[in-house]
Amino acid sequence: MSTTEIDLTALAAQDADALAIADFLSSCTHAWPGRIAATVTLQGCPWLCAYCGTPESHDPTGQGRVTWRQVVEQLSSHSDVVDAVVFGGGEPTRQDGLVSAIREARSLGYEIGLHTMGAHPGRVASVLPTVDWVRFDLKGTPGMYEHITGSDTAGFQAWASLEAIHESGVEYEILLTVDPTVHTRDNILATVREVIHRGFHAPVLQQPRRATASVGYRRALRGRGLYDVITHEDLPDLTRR
Ligand code: SF4
Repeated sequence: MSTTEIDLTALAAQDADALAIADFLSSCTHAWPGRIAATVTLQGCPWLCAYCGTPESHDPTGQGRVTWRQVVEQLSSHSDVVDAVVFGGGEPTRQDGLVSAIREARSLGYEIGLHTMGAHPGRVASVLPTVDWVRFDLKGTPGMYEHITGSDTAGFQAWASLEAIHESGVEYEILLTVDPTVHTRDNILATVREVIHRGFHAPVLQQPRRATASVGYRRALRGRGLYDVITHEDLPDLTRR
């Protein structure tokens, strides 16, 4: 039995009812391109990104506002209109009940998606065999992570997780939030080049989410967005090694 299988067995033994769930959305079209998905936002994240779009889920000690049984009740009556369940956060892999919840959702007939930023590479590797698709939240090259997340180990952890996702063969998408308060044009070019150099899928670039960000972050943005950091003229450069 491999290490991954041992980890998976241990995680699967945890009860989904113990999950701390910050939010549940019964259907949306943006969590997984091409799917109508219910989203389960799990509580808790070890990082402190200024642009966090889910600040309500950030506190790792938070108890959550929705029970897993309430989620299952909703999922049980929506399988004719919803294709998939996407688990996100926060960082969903930090909670031990995740694999049990994934298995229960799959037994109801749903495909399974995972949103992760990769703070726990061992846990990410353990969960990968149970999911159909992953969205990886990339923040920059490994060297940029400490400034963005406040954690000096974050860069290593995130890129190790990304490597594990790529190597697993699961379908995945890399999403790079271009944050004008921390990223320069050279940062973005260097990040995309690093991703391509390692053989990963080219990232999708996105604007920071203003609507759900803190007042302090919206002030710091001063109206700036993705195209204040890079322009359409930069796009050919993004794939050049
Ligand atoms: S890693 Fe994600 S959930 Fe955690 S603070 Fe950063 S943006 Fe928020």
